Amino acid sequence: MKAMLLRRIAPLAVNPAPLEPAEIPVPEPAAGDVLIRVSVCGVCHTDLDEIEGRAVPPRLPVVPGHQVVGRVERAGEGVSGVRAGDRVGVAWIFSACGACRHCREGNENLCADFVATGKDAPGGYAEFMVARAAFVHRIPDAYSNVDAAPLMCAGAIGYRSLRLAGIRDGDALGLSGFGASAHIVLQLVRHMYPRTAVAVFAREEGERAFARELGASWAGDFGEAPPGKLRAVIDTTPVWTPVLEALRHIEPGGRVVVNAIRKEEGDRAALQSLDYPSQLWMEKEIKSVANVTRSDVREFLDVAARLPIRPSTEEFPLREANAALLQLKNRKIRGAKVLRIS
Ligand SMILES: [Zn+2]
Ligand SMILES: [Zn+2]
Repeated sequence: MKAMLLRRIAPLAVNPAPLEPAEIPVPEPAAGDVLIRVSVCGVCHTDLDEIEGRAVPPRLPVVPGHQVVGRVERAGEGVSGVRAGDRVGVAWIFSACGACRHCREGNENLCADFVATGKDAPGGYAEFMVARAAFVHRIPDAYSNVDAAPLMCAGAIGYRSLRLAGIRDGDALGLSGFGASAHIVLQLVRHMYPRTAVAVFAREEGERAFARELGASWAGDFGEAPPGKLRAVIDTTPVWTPVLEALRHIEPGGRVVVNAIRKEEGDRAALQSLDYPSQLWMEKEIKSVANVTRSDVREFLDVAARLPIRPSTEEFPLREANAALLQLKNRKIRGAKVLRIS
């Protein structure tokens, strides 16, 4: 089968084509697994973190990709509930132990044995992939394959971030950065919290105009102040400066939710400028978002289909995965990038 393989970790500035087209064997589903014929796979900022070496290193070589939509080709031994022909998705959570305290409490995203799709196990930048049957998700009929792809990570983790933001209807919310996840969160907020005003911080005027189109009440550049204090801010930027700015914009007891697996090293010095009295005192909080649980993915897919959330997407053929990654790196974003595979 055709696949795009990551063999070496390097910044895109050093190697602008980090993934190599390869012909590799179709994987065999073990007991409890399903073999999936991949239709599409979304391109996520976490793929960049992995390729450029910011995340915990993958097992190389690896097929990246964790926003997978396809059809079950064959089920392994002992699989029930999922059959050949079913349309399913695979998210960042490939598996978790199921037995530790975090797993038992429903926080399988925090499991020490968390296995990440496309990092610790081969992902969806390929014609086929194997997944644990218990960790695949049914795709609502309301969605095409392409529209469903960005829901699997950008949407699901956006939903988790919004839950962790802990807002109530009417509380003002900020979105710092306006990429694939934030544009879905904005649509979620408009429906789940109709009285909540959303302020969007984005560098490009195009992104800000897009945010206003989707219902943001205010959109400005980083460094600008929104019209009023915010109850919470969800940060999806790759750097620290916007987090520090967000701390100035939240009210006492407010929270900044950082939705990023890693921040870029070059911006680390920004953290040393933290001014405790104005930015963190008064019970302000910074909370990170780590991974997703199966229930995040399933609850989100259910809510998204009922609204419905319409992701904006841009398609690339599989062999142009490097071009999609480079555009993401250079923040040429309007919605989500999706690789079309079959
Ligand atoms: Zn992702
Ligand atoms: Zn566990």
